[in-house]
Amino acid sequence: MITVFEARRILTMNPARPVATHVAVRDGRILGAGNLEELAGWGEYTLDRRFVDQVLMPGLVEGHSHVSEGVFWRAVYCGYFDRTDPDGRVWSGLQSIDAVLGRLAEAERAIPDPATPLSGWALDPIYFDGARLNRHHLDQVSATRPIGIMHASGHILSVNTRGLELAGLLRSGLAHPGVPLGADGLPTGELKGPDAMMPAGRHVGFNREQQAGDELGLRQFARLCVRQGVTTATDLANLLPDDAVAMMSRVCATPDFPVRVVSFRRAFGMTMPALMERARTLRDRSIDQLRLGGAKLFVDGSIQGFSARLRWPGYYRGEPNGLWYTTPEQLSEALELALADGTMVHIHTNGDEATELVLDCLEQVLRQRPGADHRFTLQHCQLADAAQFRRMKALGLCVNLFPNHHFYWGDQHYAQTVGPERAERMNACATALATGVPLAIHSDAPVTPLGPLFTAWCAVNRLTASGRVLGADERISVPDALRTITLGAAYTLKLDGEIGSIECGKRADFAVLEDDPTTIAPERLKDVRVRGTVLGGRIFDARDI
Ligand SMILES: [Zn+2]
Repeated sequence: MITVFEARRILTMNPARPVATHVAVRDGRILGAGNLEELAGWGEYTLDRRFVDQVLMPGLVEGHSHVSEGVFWRAVYCGYFDRTDPDGRVWSGLQSIDAVLGRLAEAERAIPDPATPLSGWALDPIYFDGARLNRHHLDQVSATRPIGIMHASGHILSVNTRGLELAGLLRSGLAHPGVPLGADGLPTGELKGPDAMMPAGRHVGFNREQQAGDELGLRQFARLCVRQGVTTATDLANLLPDDAVAMMSRVCATPDFPVRVVSFRRAFGMTMPALMERARTLRDRSIDQLRLGGAKLFVDGSIQGFSARLRWPGYYRGEPNGLWYTTPEQLSEALELALADGTMVHIHTNGDEATELVLDCLEQVLRQRPGADHRFTLQHCQLADAAQFRRMKALGLCVNLFPNHHFYWGDQHYAQTVGPERAERMNACATALATGVPLAIHSDAPVTPLGPLFTAWCAVNRLTASGRVLGADERISVPDALRTITLGAAYTLKLDGEIGSIECGKRADFAVLEDDPTTIAPERLKDVRVRGTVLGGRIFDARDI
């Protein structure tokens, strides 16, 4: 059975035929894009004109997000900017610690059981003029109920005194770089990095194993994807225990599930050989809408949390350098095993010293064991300079940059974290393209909201929240940006032969748009309205998802 969809315009991303008016679909795949007369040659068809007023482009590919965006919405939103939840409700941003405490107190009063933890997310004290949220603040909300607030970066957790106590951290004499101490010698309540966060996380509603198996969260995440035109989304740091994989396989295989999820096993709590073995086992359990088998490594923390590792001269205002999440030995071991297995590895680096470490390790490893087309991908890699992009190119690395940072934290990077010059080179999309490093761009949802067209707008305009153009020379064109959120991201996942463009043989995945992103003014790219998606020929309307 063939369906031919007619649209106002179809942007195919196929270089040989970039625009069309019709696309023919059979068995969830594309027979061809062209005009009706050409497609009629495939045989009897049904003409579907429901998109005659819309623009179709390839289903958008979010190359770095986390399904936990769907889970976190059940916690209290504590972010600085307004944000839309999976039901379409807009939550107002909170501009002070008092406002955060006010919303938390309101939520606290609504929880009857005194032992149930109170969880919040998306906090970012960098906007609060140096004021930090400590355990004493949170104790004002409740001194008896455990409270935990995940920071926007996902790299810091703030807990109250009860939370520290349950985690066994309410004691003096602690000497851990991820556990800052107050004047009383006790932890302030901020816990930085996975080692410090995990023990408390499970007591304050952030148990990662539990999150992995959260079916409602997965479904909520999928609804957000439809609203943003996303048909393939990564879940880039999942612990993927067996029960979670079973749940995800079941949910993703149902015909009403609207997104293809690419889930990577996070390197945590196991040796690198065990991680690679697990990745290999998971790869065999992949189905069309749930792709498994990749591994995610972390090298450092976040720049706005001052836990990223920076090369000389370090942070602009002299803060101490950030945290290492892995050793060079572990990193080299993982890369070597992954090359031997053909396992996809994506590596989190934020600071340029972290990026440099990956470049050094991979160069060494490739000298021993050449690996053609490995497509290892540096994730974020925000602070890389031009020389590092040249090394990435030489080593066959891809990069997935994070232009949303310019809007959300660009003013802070300029004034507080890395200073003007390095803030302007952050997320150097134009340099990546000029150097020939395969490029994707991302939201890292829940760190910033899921929305590839917004991310593309950030890469094209590089505007900060205050309206400063940060790094005018690193802006990229709209066609380049649209390519990065489709084929570019698909390439980093080794899926570019299957998705990312509308052409014969590929999956019938489309983003359905009310406006044409190639004719709207570039500064309005983020305002392109999304009607919904088509995934494997199945239609999902954002208005009734
Ligand atoms: Zn991430």
